[in-house]
Amino acid sequence: MRALQSHLEGRWIAGTGRVETLLNPATEEPLAQVSSEGLDRGAALEFARTKGGSALRSMSFAARGAMLRAMCESIQLHREELIELAVANGGNTRSDAKFDIDGATFTLSAYADLGKAVGETQLLVDGEGMQLGRTPRFHGQHIRVPRHGVAVHINAFNFPAWGLAEKAAVALLAGVPVFAKPATSSALVAHRIVEILNERKTLPDGALSLLLGSAGDLLAHLGPQDVVAFTGSSMTGELIRAMPAVIRNSVRVNVEADSLNAAVLGTDGEPGSEICDYFLKDVVRDMTQKAGQKCTAIRRVLVPEAIADRVRDELVDRLGAVVVGNPASDGVRMGPVATAQQHRDVRDGIDALARDGRLVFGDGALKPVGAPEGKGYYVSPVLLEVEPGAAAPSVHSREVFGPVATVVPYGGRAEEAAALVARGRGGLVSSVYSEDVAFTSTLVSGLAPFHGRVFLGSVKIAEQSPGPGTVLPTLVHGGPGRAGGGEELGGLRGLEFYMQRVALEGSRPVIDRIIGIKG
Ligand code: NAP
Repeated sequence: MRALQSHLEGRWIAGTGRVETLLNPATEEPLAQVSSEGLDRGAALEFARTKGGSALRSMSFAARGAMLRAMCESIQLHREELIELAVANGGNTRSDAKFDIDGATFTLSAYADLGKAVGETQLLVDGEGMQLGRTPRFHGQHIRVPRHGVAVHINAFNFPAWGLAEKAAVALLAGVPVFAKPATSSALVAHRIVEILNERKTLPDGALSLLLGSAGDLLAHLGPQDVVAFTGSSMTGELIRAMPAVIRNSVRVNVEADSLNAAVLGTDGEPGSEICDYFLKDVVRDMTQKAGQKCTAIRRVLVPEAIADRVRDELVDRLGAVVVGNPASDGVRMGPVATAQQHRDVRDGIDALARDGRLVFGDGALKPVGAPEGKGYYVSPVLLEVEPGAAAPSVHSREVFGPVATVVPYGGRAEEAAALVARGRGGLVSSVYSEDVAFTSTLVSGLAPFHGRVFLGSVKIAEQSPGPGTVLPTLVHGGPGRAGGGEELGGLRGLEFYMQRVALEGSRPVIDRIIGIKG
């Protein structure tokens, strides 16, 4: 079987010792093996800092933007091959796989454009300059410069291409080398992307390293100029934050973790209305795209009590039309979850939610289309509902990372819906579907403090919008509390994490010269 190697210190290198096997989750067929014991993570980080860091810092924003453009084009040239790998190793349908690969190139392209727009400079001017003394000569100005460390990127299993590319695009544009550690179970796609970028020599030596397999002692080697951007479970996020080297060296840490994203239907969302139809489409897509393994997927479906039964029945009908099976078979709309562990976690999560509510769809006998007998990690879409006013603690505290959502009826007031959503204790994105501007505004003020993004669903934007589940490079991604307290992307905002903000205080002509204003 194929043994995948890590790319460290500018070369491909194999680990030794314990081997982990990557599978096809639709058939449980072994695809490749990785091993990471014996790799010198300390030396690899230092190579990235010195070799990769100095090469990137010598480039202007425009040159780094051009580098991102080359990365984007290289990946696009191999799009079909990468889609096939994502189908095999991720259990993705073709459409799920495109979402991941095209999400990666879209983000690289957006940051390539930003680099071009910033232009031939190596620093960012931060806000307006200010007079500090009696005369304009004594002046102050904030600027941002790349840190001299390495950006360690630890990613979740669900978006091996997009996760790698979205973090890398921002760090590389900021001028900081990337040390990527993809989740082991779905690492084939990330591995192939790094191979392609190396074959096409799109990056300077040391600008992008790849560690396959377990992180091992990686984080023990972090220093004061390094940063860690992590996407995954809150539990792993907590472990990373508490690492002694992270605390001792004040290493910046960004955590993107769990989220109980909610979608709220307004009282104008009568079944049969256009807004209700739009809402139902988004809920079903979010529940089933990537088998619900999306950090932004809708988990709580808030519906006015007066129409809750009819909306639930519509959802049940639509979920009944979703064909579950091996993504390699024709007509399959939802594949398996990614691993045996994921399968167990999702099953346990459904049991926990069912103790607080009632199962209204799914979880019965499932015959996945095209799956070998008894093989594969399949679950059907599952819809639950709770009684109006029920405490249902697990619905507001347990993220089931699969095709699972719960209908939560509310009395119809925006304030009441906001209070229910806030019980999730911080999320990535929640959405409101209503044409009633007063209702939407009241709900937004209740939701905003608890989220990184609020999606305002209206039929007026339906044709143009990819829905709440799609993360856009121009808008921030992240959220407070349970969601990890992190923030990524958001155009140039995302670069702040990788750069040092420094206040210059001195004579105005000198400062103007430094920031590139000709006197
Ligand atoms: P996970 O088990 O926490 O793993 C995430 C990553 O952390 C993997 O690369 C994993 O490596 C690595 N890791 C595990 N233990 C580590 C340690 N002690 N030190 C350093 N790295 C370590 O999460 P997952 O199961 O892959 O992902 C599912 C979770 O991610 C869900 O809870 C979901 O909500 C969250 N998620 C959040 C977002 C977001 O943007 N907020 C996006 C996607 C997913 P191995 O694979 O080698 O164990």
